[in-house]
Amino acid sequence: MKESSGIRELKGIGEKSEKIFQRAGICTVGDLLRYYPKGYDIYEDPVTVAELEEGRIMTVSGAIYGRVQVGGNPRMQITTLHVKDLTGTLKVIWYRMPFLQNTLSGGGVITLRGRIAQKRGMLVMEQPEIFYPAVKYEQKRNSLQPVYPLTAGLTNHAVLKAVKQAVEKTDFAEDLLPEELRKSQELADFKEAVSGIHFPENKDVVFAARKRLVFEEFLLFILALRVRRGREEQVRNPYCFREHPRIARFLEQLPYELTGAQKAVWQEIRQDMCGIHVMSRLVQGDVGSGKTVVALLAMLFAGLNGYQAALMAPTEVLARQHFDTICRMFAQYGISLRPELMTGSMKAKEKREACSRIAAGEVQLIIGTHALIQENVIYRNLALVVTDEQHRFGVRQREKLRQKGECPHILVMSATPIPRTLAMIVYGDLDISVINELPKNRLPIKNCVVDTGYRDTAYRFMKKQIQMGRQCYIICPMVEESDTLEVENVVDYTENLSEILGSGYVVRCLHGKMKQSEKDEIMEAFSQNKIQILVSTTVIEVGIDVPNASVMMIENAERFGLAQLHQLRGRVGRGKHQSYCIFMSASRSEETKERLEILNHSNDGFFIAGEDLRLRGPGDLFGIRQSGILDFRLGDVFQDAGLLQAAGKAANRILEEDPVLEKPKYKNIREVLRRNWQQNAFEATL
Ligand code: ADP
Ligand code: MG
Repeated sequence: MKESSGIRELKGIGEKSEKIFQRAGICTVGDLLRYYPKGYDIYEDPVTVAELEEGRIMTVSGAIYGRVQVGGNPRMQITTLHVKDLTGTLKVIWYRMPFLQNTLSGGGVITLRGRIAQKRGMLVMEQPEIFYPAVKYEQKRNSLQPVYPLTAGLTNHAVLKAVKQAVEKTDFAEDLLPEELRKSQELADFKEAVSGIHFPENKDVVFAARKRLVFEEFLLFILALRVRRGREEQVRNPYCFREHPRIARFLEQLPYELTGAQKAVWQEIRQDMCGIHVMSRLVQGDVGSGKTVVALLAMLFAGLNGYQAALMAPTEVLARQHFDTICRMFAQYGISLRPELMTGSMKAKEKREACSRIAAGEVQLIIGTHALIQENVIYRNLALVVTDEQHRFGVRQREKLRQKGECPHILVMSATPIPRTLAMIVYGDLDISVINELPKNRLPIKNCVVDTGYRDTAYRFMKKQIQMGRQCYIICPMVEESDTLEVENVVDYTENLSEILGSGYVVRCLHGKMKQSEKDEIMEAFSQNKIQILVSTTVIEVGIDVPNASVMMIENAERFGLAQLHQLRGRVGRGKHQSYCIFMSASRSEETKERLEILNHSNDGFFIAGEDLRLRGPGDLFGIRQSGILDFRLGDVFQDAGLLQAAGKAANRILEEDPVLEKPKYKNIREVLRRNWQQNAFEATL
């Protein structure tokens, strides 16, 4: 069997299960081999019935007590069994498995592993895995069992079975990584790594397997970028940019002076745009460092030189905000260029009209979401494309926007706090500018980490701030009430808070399930201070800029990653007012406390990213990652920084030796790169 074989060739996979696997992105045996576990379960020692705890997956061993019974209705048959040990009796339930009645009819000792739930005041075990007779458990005891990411219809067991076959039957004749590379980097071969990641005997095996697979992942990624850059670097700047006096005047009209860092970055951008080669530049700057105005300067520069410029933002809320800011400035400063908004939720007619203005060149600055890269949007003389919050976009999308022009200048803005050395590897196809300075009028945000008992005090504090003319954000993790999670939700929260505060305070909610027009209305009203408290989900996480807001309160702060919390906090402290961030947490865990303390003591995104790394460390190998930044399948740019660097160096050596990867030993790599680009494989990564 080859990696390219279809999964139907595996035993037990028919038409129906093939479809289910395909929905999870698994079409070939190779896909299956690379469907890595997201973590591992350890089959721990069984506990007694008295030790069982609700909500946990546990193992219990005892005698089958009484008869196995099948009840329920024909469509949902329920099999029940009682297991007894010295400490008590446990009821066990299986759904739709009536045949167990026969299997378990022999009595004797059984071991069961499953989730413990509470039913009518009693603990029950639901749908457990069966080890019968109990000695069968001994084979698994203390072993690591892979836990796979699942989609509807796909069970862990099904994946495990299929992967097991795939590992056994695939002929691993050709390793993607040439032997000399594996030797020099001390990497396992593919077969060893794959069987190690799926079926490890111990943690060391996972470690070695992961090392090889992460290296491979990084190497392919970097090579993909470099190979492309190799082609692009040659591109000469086809545009004719001249200095324009209106720029200097614009800078005078701004209500503030640019920071030194903003000036320096603008200088670099201007030189690029006037230079011999087309610009590909990343502007990195912490939240609130003032990236928008720098992007705007570049767009203005393009417009004044008779070209179009496009700005793509990840959310409609953010796109509209940018559009409004630009409209306001142009009106106020008497700039005659015309902006246009283009988003997915616009009516078909509005879109058509916008498209025709864009195609005719009647508008110069085009601001929007993904809608900007749709096929029917045709630009006229597009000389600059900007992507804001670029980590929210795929390379492919950036690429698509680029292809809308002849070969436009590219500017990407990011607040992702990754160290410069990493950025240089990861964003190998971009030059990097850093805005490492906040505007001078800023007072550092004051933070506090509190438990829910502090809520009333927080509300009193917010009232005071509102009386001073300020506004507040409150973030909740959920939109609506959920039966499974005990966390705050935006809808109920807004209602309760309105009641608590009484009249005189306008509290409104904002979340992703609302209609776009509603969201726009709410954001608009909030930015005009017609709403004093905005209760929102993380839809406002990136980019939103209402400088009058001075309080950010995050409910269930324990549920968010550090990077995300930092971004959320970045919504305040954007103006001259003293701002506050309240991290509220219902959790008493030490780990949560330590994590939140980091934010409590620092407002510096780079420092926070570093601490995040230190905290999670290699120990998180067995946890589930939630950073959201540069999500590789296995690799993590922070945790695996060493491997990333090694892969970067290896990529350089390979390309020096063989710039277009034509040697036979790189044939497989070339093939994979070609396929990946076709399948948008890196879409989610950058
Ligand atoms: P980000 O880098 O997070 O995108 P923005 O560009 O949205 O930040 O800027 C945040 C706020 O700071 C905006 O309200 C903007 O008008 C203001 N701002 C930008 N540059 C300066 C500056 N040099 N001095 C004072 N305020 C500034
Ligand atoms: Mg921004």
